[in-house]
Amino acid sequence: MLQTVAAFDRLGEENAFAVLARATALAQQGKDIINLGIGQPDFRTPPHIVEAAVKALRDGHHGYTPANGILPLREAVARRTLSTTGVEVSPERIMILPGGKPTMYAAIIMFGEPGVDILYPDPGFPIYRSMIEYTGAAPVPVPMREANGFAFSAEETLSLITPRTRLLILNSPANPTGGVTGRSEIEKLVKGLERHPEVAILSDEIYDVMTYDGERHASLLGFPEIAERLIVLNGWSKTWAMTGWRMGGWRMGWSIWPNSAAGAHLYDKVRKLAVNCWSCVNAPTQYAGIAAIDGPQDAVAEMMRAFDRRRSAVVEGLNALPGVSCVTPKGAFYAFPNVEATGWKAKPLAAALLDDAGVALIGGPDFGILGEGYVRVSYANSEANIEKALRRMREFLGRHS
Ligand code: PLP
Repeated sequence: MLQTVAAFDRLGEENAFAVLARATALAQQGKDIINLGIGQPDFRTPPHIVEAAVKALRDGHHGYTPANGILPLREAVARRTLSTTGVEVSPERIMILPGGKPTMYAAIIMFGEPGVDILYPDPGFPIYRSMIEYTGAAPVPVPMREANGFAFSAEETLSLITPRTRLLILNSPANPTGGVTGRSEIEKLVKGLERHPEVAILSDEIYDVMTYDGERHASLLGFPEIAERLIVLNGWSKTWAMTGWRMGGWRMGWSIWPNSAAGAHLYDKVRKLAVNCWSCVNAPTQYAGIAAIDGPQDAVAEMMRAFDRRRSAVVEGLNALPGVSCVTPKGAFYAFPNVEATGWKAKPLAAALLDDAGVALIGGPDFGILGEGYVRVSYANSEANIEKALRRMREFLGRHS
């Protein structure tokens, strides 16, 4: 019993939420805060998606649904997967969950235990390491290097695999760096993984359509040779600006799991976890999810055009700041500038920028040991606010470098 409770002491946090709380408290005291800290689109969920949820409620869809999600929604995800990856996936392998994080949770508790290694990106989404430590497995960071555009290096990743490795977590396009791993590197990685059939893969593809400059996301789904040990995480939160759809507790996500004897029936295992933990995602949100996938995509395209304009403004503005240099991110809506030459450590700099300049961003160490020397700038804010934040940062660094 004590052992189990102690495991909770190993859980980490996602500091973006602490920064959001501090920024909100400062704003309530009358301070003018520009929030470049939180990772959520500043766009409204498109109206036809909201209407679909309201209609579902009016039509009486307020009971339990199957734990793995309603069939029309899983069919919609299958259609969307085909159109974005060219891969046909049966709805019998698609799991609807209350957000992206529950897939992470399920996959990591399935493979993590004392005595095994789990590889995860560093800097990377903080929950990977937190959940790995919760299980008692050893977290092994895979370095995401600035010189490599914060992409995975197949060679370096493969060199970290040992007989203890049970799970490899990949994320492209990536949080917090905006790094995108190109197809040729993924091909090399998959080729190498064929030598390690005991290693399962969790590919977090939640930013899949958020790429720039003609860069195309290469899904791990495109490699049938690893299909039986591949879990692909995706969801609605970012693409359709639905981060706050928390009516049923958490927001909604989907993931694709092996559903065969060779794939250890992982799909059935995660479905059973759902039955035990949350029963199902709330019904109206599932109908909204169908409308998101099948409805017009012009709002998504408009959002991505806005992100692209902001990305240019952010990268140019950051590179013009004293002591700051920023590689151009190829995906998601984050920039990860190097701030080492300002003379500041990353977390004190982020804290001082919030308190003195009213600009909220996140210190790189909140995303891993290798995040020191960097800060994460989320450009999910208006161009006017981004310009204002950059002016404030320039002024602050002029005073304090
Ligand atoms: N994966 C990555 C890489 C993320 O950045 C996030 C959210 O910030 C998630 C998963 C979690 O998604 P959700 O909010 O739908 O749980």
